[in-house]
Amino acid sequence: MSHVFYRNPYKKYPVVARGKGVYLYDRQGKRYLDGCGGAVVSAIGHHVPEVVEAIKAQLDSVEFAHTSQFTNDPQEELAELLAERAPGGLDFTYFVSGGSEAVESALKMARAYWVQMGRPEKWMVIGREQSYHGNTLGALAVGGNLWRRAIYEPMLYPRPRVAPCYCYRCPFGRHPESCSLECADDLERAIQEVGPEKVSAFIAEPIVGATAGALTPPAGYFQRIREICDRHDVLFIADEVMTGLGRTGAWFAMKHWGVVPDLMCLAKGLAAGYVPVGATMVHHRINDTFHNRRNVFQHGHTYMGHPLAAAAGVAVIRYMSEHKLVDRSRKLGKYLREQLQAACGDHPHVGEIRGRGLFVGMEFVKDRESRTPFEPETGFHNLVGDAAFELGLILYPTGGTIDGRRGDHVLIAPPFIITRSQIDRLVEILGRALERATK
Ligand code: PMP
Repeated sequence: MSHVFYRNPYKKYPVVARGKGVYLYDRQGKRYLDGCGGAVVSAIGHHVPEVVEAIKAQLDSVEFAHTSQFTNDPQEELAELLAERAPGGLDFTYFVSGGSEAVESALKMARAYWVQMGRPEKWMVIGREQSYHGNTLGALAVGGNLWRRAIYEPMLYPRPRVAPCYCYRCPFGRHPESCSLECADDLERAIQEVGPEKVSAFIAEPIVGATAGALTPPAGYFQRIREICDRHDVLFIADEVMTGLGRTGAWFAMKHWGVVPDLMCLAKGLAAGYVPVGATMVHHRINDTFHNRRNVFQHGHTYMGHPLAAAAGVAVIRYMSEHKLVDRSRKLGKYLREQLQAACGDHPHVGEIRGRGLFVGMEFVKDRESRTPFEPETGFHNLVGDAAFELGLILYPTGGTIDGRRGDHVLIAPPFIITRSQIDRLVEILGRALERATK
């Protein structure tokens, strides 16, 4: 009998034994092509010697010193590497241990900023429908993943949510030709509804991952969001936990649109799975209001700025830079989308293939013409995901909403080191998984 409290008690998990490059191997020796970096985490592949050595070297000097007493070299260096690559002005980094902590930190920083600015009435955070910002109570409260929120509802503060930018199923019934960015203007509506004087921040994923299968915003969306936020003194928090660190073919997705958020959350690709780490990047304008003042920002976690996590992060960024992996994510992402389109684009249950860089989503529908989703009980994304897993390909199946009306998806987000022939193999297995799921 196992004493592990599993993620899903009904599932039988193989035991992972080792990883190398784009492959994981279980105890029985079965090989799996990691087509999604786990959960969009393993950005540079498994067991990269440079990263393993960097972690070992850090262990040989110091494993832990509390951040209330010390800083450490790797966290200083990692903060510098991030500031060099982030959208201009995001000069400071607050290190934590994962994505949810990064979001919690950003939410509390936004609140603390307005208190510091003499505007304590600004507390509300607006999020979007069909979004995911983490599993802690604050992050769940601003997210729009109804299924994950459901049983905790009475514990979550009510937060206004605005429409997603879901072009394939535009909530405003528009087509690309007639789009006038109503989805962005929905933020204006929500701010007016609750009163701008009460709104502290707006949070959004640049390209929506776990709840929507790489939903990519229409041109001009985030520029309009930035304008609305500026007009009403609302901070803009970009949740780049999935999209950050090269995943979409730029160091940070916000760079595609030249938009600078006030706070930016990172995790996953930051240490690419080698150790748990997260970070909140902070604009110098906000940092300046906290600087040299005691008790302004009441927050902190024991493992923040952990030397091993930071050493891994430094090694990952160096490796990515040396091997030009951001560029590779952009180029191979295009190749992956083209190949998927050619092999699966006409499948009767493939509604849309979308995304940017090596961050690709495939949305499934019952009927292509009408874009009718499957009934929620069908869970087509799980059928595809399970069939792929059996065939030795790992995908990230993502269910949309509790009512299933918005369809279901898989995320395809392999490590950036994947080769063209490995992509061909991925596409071939995915095609076979689709056929199995359809039977
Ligand atoms: N934000 C986004 C956009 C995410 O995708 C996730 C994780 N899927 C989180 C936050 C939470 O990160 P973690 O699981 O590391 O707490």
